[in-house]
Amino acid sequence: MTDLVIPAPSLPTVPTSTGGRFPVRRVFCVGRNYAAHAREMGHDPDREPPFFFTKPADAVVVDGADTPYPSATARLEHEVELVVAIGSAGSDVTADHALEHVWGYGVGLDLTRRDLQAEAKRLGRPWDAAKGFDASAPIGTLVPAAGVDPAAGAITLRVNGDLRQSGDLADQIWSVAETIAELSRFVALSPGDLLMTGTPEGVGVLDRGDTLEGTIAGVGSVRTRIV
Ligand code: MN
Repeated sequence: MTDLVIPAPSLPTVPTSTGGRFPVRRVFCVGRNYAAHAREMGHDPDREPPFFFTKPADAVVVDGADTPYPSATARLEHEVELVVAIGSAGSDVTADHALEHVWGYGVGLDLTRRDLQAEAKRLGRPWDAAKGFDASAPIGTLVPAAGVDPAAGAITLRVNGDLRQSGDLADQIWSVAETIAELSRFVALSPGDLLMTGTPEGVGVLDRGDTLEGTIAGVGSVRTRIV
């Protein structure tokens, strides 16, 4: 093996309910996949194809760990989302076969510098600084796909115990299978990829000291504190 000229970066991993750890390769996210959230962000929720943005793999914060309040923002916001963990490779997969590529599911938080996102939208710039910052993706314990229905189930987020977001996976504009199929047109899906599938309405501002708990019925939960 060729000598590495710097130490190899450590591989981010997420604990699983099976007692193992899921290695994270990439984190893809879907924008505007719940009609009520699209409306609250000022968009008409027509059924335009899903669009994607990314976070680096090491944006992952494991369940229960603290999340540092990010630099360069005065408006950090929460988005609770279903996380899909890809277990096998695939390109141009059909929706009929898309779920065969899923290892499991989890609950995640798509933390967002909303002020920077608004500026990026206004200036027609990329969302990377708004979405893909360090520690921007707290992810709960992953559970195997068997027995999980990604098309139905209550999804909630509580901040300091107060219910902030409440929706149902059934309200996703694009199903998990359709979203995986669409993503696989643009990239070759690889084991280790995570896909965050969009958030229901009720996104809002976070402060240092806030405690977050996201849940999805039949999947699990994610907890973190902003410090
Ligand atoms: Mn999101």
